[in-house]
Formats: sequence, C-alpha cells, structure tokens
Amino acid sequence: MSTVLETRNLVKRFGGFVATDNVSLTVQRGARHALIGPNGAGKTTLINLLTGSLKPTSGRVVLEGEDITGLPVHRRVSRGLARTFQVNQLFPDFTPLESVVLAINERERLGASAWAPLAAHAEAVDEAAGLLERFGLTDVMGERTSHLPYGKQRLLEIALAFAAKPRVLLLDEPAAGVPEEERHEVLAIVRALPAEVTVILIEHDMDLVFSFADRISVLVAGALFTEGTVAEIAADPRVKAIYLGEDA
Ligand code: ADP
Ligand code: MG
Repeated sequence: MSTVLETRNLVKRFGGFVATDNVSLTVQRGARHALIGPNGAGKTTLINLLTGSLKPTSGRVVLEGEDITGLPVHRRVSRGLARTFQVNQLFPDFTPLESVVLAINERERLGASAWAPLAAHAEAVDEAAGLLERFGLTDVMGERTSHLPYGKQRLLEIALAFAAKPRVLLLDEPAAGVPEEERHEVLAIVRALPAEVTVILIEHDMDLVFSFADRISVLVAGALFTEGTVAEIAADPRVKAIYLGEDA
C-alpha cells in the first residue's frame, strides 16, 4: 500500500472559528475512504482545502509526495484531483452526452470548440458513450438532464468528474437528496470504479458508508476524532454516541 494523498497539520480558521483543527490525514492509493462526522464537523471544508478552493491557515496538502498546498484548483485537477459538490452543479438543458463530451474536451483543452456540434467530436463522443455506460446512463444519454431522475443526475455529476481521468476522486455527499431506493446503486457504481482510482467520500447515511468504505475517518468539530476499518468504526461506541447525540 502506498499513500496517494495526505494532509499535515492542516488548519483552517474563519475569523476566530476553527473549521479544520490540525488534521493529519493519510489516504492510501486505491482506497474507498469515507469521511464522516456530524453536520458542521468540517467535512466539506476539508474537501475544499484538498481541492484548493480554500487556502489553509496553516499546514500542508501533499499529493503523491508533492506539496500542492500553494497550487490553484485547475493545477490540482490536472495533477489528478477531481471532485463533485454537495449541491448539484449540472447544466440542466444539456443532455448527459453533451455534458460529458464537454468535460472530455475541457480535459483535452479544446476550449471553445467544445461548443461545436457533437458530430465534430467523434472521438470524444465514443469515449463519452463508454463512460456513460459505466455510470448506468446509456438509456438516458440523449435526454435533457433536468428530466433525469435525481439519482441519475448525481451519477452524471460523478461521471463528469471521472471524465477528468482523476487519480483521486472527491465526492461530497453524492447521494444527498437521492431517494432511498436509488442511493445504493449510486455508491455501488462508485465503489466499482477502477481500483487505481482512489475515492474519498463524504456520506451521512451510515449504512451506505459501511457498505462502501474500506477505511473511515471521523471528523468532529474540525478535528480528526478517530480512524479505522468499517468493523472498527462500526464497533466504536464513541462514534455511535456522536451520531445518536445528533439524532436526539
Ligand atoms: P460539514 O461539511 O461537515 O457539514 P462544513 O465544512 O461545511 O461542515 O462547515 C464546518 C464549519 O465551518 C461550520 O460551522 C460552518 O458554518 C463553518 N464554515 C464553513 N465555511 C465557512 C465560511 N466560508 N465562512 C465561515 N464559516 C464557515
Ligand atoms: Mg458538508
């Protein structure tokens, strides 16, 4: 096992408030690593620090042994970090096929020509069709995105992040808002991505986390509270207490 991504003593303050409290996190290559914790624990903030959309107050972010703390978002994307957001960010009037072709063209830096008709991008269309199949979107690839069931919309978002050919995929609550019966499919598809792609997942539903993850880190009040395998976290009464406390 080798480390693909790590944080070293990462701190983020918003004014006097500490949202990320001295987090040193190690993610193994190929892991299905879940980041859990109560609302406001700092999960999204940590993802934002990893992707570069937030700058840390102090501490380092290291990708494949290289310090990327000072790099802007797009340079991290080109080094293999891709993410989805907690809130859906799709183009509602595009079809899934058009959206994925656009993402592929962006990766290939074709820029404005991405807006040309699909027929002008035969290679990208082929790649997009393969990618949509992997995400269970073949049957809806020609429909308007706004007409898709929500679970399919969230899968499309993940497909768009995956189109960047990431080494590390960061998913912030990809099943949020998805009806119960579609949620398992969303995470099963993510779990089945190629083994060399590392996935970091934020998810609130513990059943989903336990069926998805091979490693779990628990954040509480910005700090790393504990870490372990699914069996270790599932058996930890302190973790149970945190979640029961939240429900109460
Ligand atoms: P989570 O994703 O675990 O629910 P967040 O990372 O979104 O938590 O937020 C952690 C804490 O940091 C919350 O108390 C939130 O209000 C605060 N916070 C997040 N972003 C900002 C910001 N830009 N400015 C001030 N406070 C913020
Ligand atoms: Mg969040």
